[in-house]
Amino acid sequence: MSLTDYDAVVVGSGPNGLAAAIALQQKGLSVLVLEAKSTIGGGLRSAELTLPGFVHDICSAVHPLAAGSPFLQTLPLAEHGLEYIYPPVAAAHPLDGGIAALLEGTTEETARGLGGDAAAYRKLVGPVVRDWPALAPELLGPLHFPKNPWMLARFGLKGLPSAAWLARRFRTRQARALVAGMAAHGMLPLTNWTTAAIALVFLATGNDRGWPIPRRGSMALAEALAGYFLSLGGRIETGVFVRSLSQLPSSRCVLLDLTPRQLLQLGGHRWSSLYRWQLERYRYGMGVFKIDWALAEPIPFLAEGCRRAGTVHIGGTFEEIAAGEASTARGIQAERPFVLLQQPSVFDTTRAPHGLHTAWAYCHVPNGSREDMTESIERQVERMAPGFRERVLARHVFDTARMEEYNPNYIGGDINGGVMDIRQLFTRPALRWSPYRTSSKGIYICSSATPPGGGVHGMCGYHAARRALKDVFRIG
Ligand SMILES: Cc1cc2nc3c(=O)[nH]c(=O)nc-3n(C[C@H](O)[C@H](O)[C@H](O)COP(=O)(O)OP(=O)(O)OC[C@H]3O[C@@H](n4cnc5c(N)ncnc54)[C@H](O)[C@@H]3O)c2cc1C
Repeated sequence: MSLTDYDAVVVGSGPNGLAAAIALQQKGLSVLVLEAKSTIGGGLRSAELTLPGFVHDICSAVHPLAAGSPFLQTLPLAEHGLEYIYPPVAAAHPLDGGIAALLEGTTEETARGLGGDAAAYRKLVGPVVRDWPALAPELLGPLHFPKNPWMLARFGLKGLPSAAWLARRFRTRQARALVAGMAAHGMLPLTNWTTAAIALVFLATGNDRGWPIPRRGSMALAEALAGYFLSLGGRIETGVFVRSLSQLPSSRCVLLDLTPRQLLQLGGHRWSSLYRWQLERYRYGMGVFKIDWALAEPIPFLAEGCRRAGTVHIGGTFEEIAAGEASTARGIQAERPFVLLQQPSVFDTTRAPHGLHTAWAYCHVPNGSREDMTESIERQVERMAPGFRERVLARHVFDTARMEEYNPNYIGGDINGGVMDIRQLFTRPALRWSPYRTSSKGIYICSSATPPGGGVHGMCGYHAARRALKDVFRIG
């Protein structure tokens, strides 16, 4: 490895690592990104996992938080090849009997589809959608004194309670199920505090501008971020697995796009005993079991709206999903799990050979579970789309161990960088004045194990870089 000095070295090239590197490079600093794998991107890679010509998103597929990210939105990513496609329906939630709740492009359209709950939906979600442009920067960051405390308090009154509380505002099973599917993204029991906020954020992003997918797959976002970073003069080295902080070239600061478990492995002796104690107690959450399919035809959902949706939430009623998530959180696998499914090739012809299709789905499993969930996931899809299995040409699966082997940040298959409950939401990875500072001067953590947590938005990286700019370079 080169012995050149840098202003900053970033370890890991996930969306947060790349966002941090860009925020530093934009200030004219010299920045090196080191990535363990042979390609960049972390949760933003796409590859032919099943058959030649079928491009699958290995991790993230749908990017509402990236498209609405207060930092990523400011970058000229379209000039570097990023094009978002907005499926006409952001997310659909089918129920037995061929009906579905649809998260459409506006609050009004979504409300109209909810029949007897239209007014309740407008009243609940309308104000969040209206406030969303101002709310996003407040929610997608560390704890701070808000610019508009009243607006945040208004959101907090609805968001602090549980999704179970939120669902009680609705009478129809469609509206209640819609809430369950949105909240389940948080990978927490739906009776937990703040799971209402998770549901509201996903509903608001759907009604604000939709849930986009990048043309050519999520790797297009990684390529655009890297392309812009390189155009500013940044440098990336791939194939460098960092095993110790002492292996890094000299620099004025280091930013780690890693989670606490790896911080302990990489530089245990560098941390104070208090910080080490805090990192050791950091909690990881449920894992995922993921399947990618090559398909002969689109998925034959009974409910027509599901065929127009980028994302489909499969798991039945609120009660079914809540019971499944609660059981999985206790370490007992749900027999009929909640399944999060994406069908990108319906909207993006670059994903599969002409006339053929791809789809991706995962369900939540206890952390570290080795159980093969193929049968359970496919049974759930078949339940809402009879004939689905006959269309499968090939499949590829990731259990939690393969997930972690693929990306060491996914400890036990946890794709959120740690539990995102109220105790660990703003204090991740440790209770400190700034969560991005480690106990070692000049070393920062910038992954999804910091606020605001999991998802593709780059805001963990952006806020960590801002902290480093202030502390080390006195740039405010
Ligand atoms: C199956 C799946 C589906 C998902 N779906 C979505 C979705 O649809 N939408 C969404 O918004 N989010 C989704 N996510 C979550 C999202 O991908 C993550 O929250 C996000 O990628 C976290 O970004 P990060 O930069 O913190 O870390 P990561 O993206 O995990 O990047 C970390 C990088 O660091 C590298 N690295 C690790 N250790 C070392 C080391 N020692 N030395 C050098 N490099 C190292 C890794 O190889 C990796 O490239 C999904 C995740 C998974 C796994």
